[in-house]
Amino acid sequence: MNRVDVLGVGFDNLTSENAIKLCKNLIDEHRSAYMVTPNPEIVMAAWDNSELRSALERADLVIPDGIGVVKAAKILGTPLKERLPGIEVGEAILEYLAQTGKSAFLLGAKPGVAELAAEQIKKLYPGINICGTNDGYFKEDAPVVVKINAAKPDFLMVCLGAPKQEIWMAQNAASLDVGLMAGLGGSLDVFAGTVERAPKAWQNLNLEWLYRCIKEPWRFKRIARLPLFLIKAWAKRIRKFFNGKG
Ligand code: UDP
Repeated sequence: MNRVDVLGVGFDNLTSENAIKLCKNLIDEHRSAYMVTPNPEIVMAAWDNSELRSALERADLVIPDGIGVVKAAKILGTPLKERLPGIEVGEAILEYLAQTGKSAFLLGAKPGVAELAAEQIKKLYPGINICGTNDGYFKEDAPVVVKINAAKPDFLMVCLGAPKQEIWMAQNAASLDVGLMAGLGGSLDVFAGTVERAPKAWQNLNLEWLYRCIKEPWRFKRIARLPLFLIKAWAKRIRKFFNGKG
């Protein structure tokens, strides 16, 4: 499948329905495939982090999390079908696991958070098998890989924050025995209730990023580079236009 290039990162151009269908297939194939959900911050981080760039390129599924990516793709003249927040794909996957009696392993966040998230997930998705948890502050990968492989999960939620989670999945995919894994940032904090998602109205206005910045002001520093992202998209489009390609 050809990917849509958005300032150096290729995205799969899918509707949410198709993306979820593909996730289900990857789970059933059980070949330690991995999905990434880059937002503009991650795309910009990939400009000068070759390890991250390669982890994104090798992913089995790359979906656009963040309205900034969708806007940039439009500016570039190669629009993406939909913005797909990683956590929403995660929710659809958990629902599928519950329906089919498949298992999930929760990796990441501060000690105790994954266990809390597991309790909530079991309430939200009755029938789901949470086959293991581990916090995200381990020193060595090997013992964690052994623990995950003993549980042989159909789905591995990798919530180590970006770019750690993307690089971790790329580096460990070959030694893992899982169905599908996905880098889902702060999702375990959301499920555990230690961090809230923005209210629906803010989500619908594409202002989830602003809500998160108000709740966690240190994030303002991280998103301060966002205008640069859109400016780069415009600059590229204009260059294409003058080169007669756009
Ligand atoms: N985290 C982790 N290990 C680390 C660094 C971070 O498990 O070494 C966790 C952190 O506790 C939090 C998540 O990764 O639960 C990052 O959440 P954030 O919302 O910052 O995700 P991002 O915006 O980076 O995708």
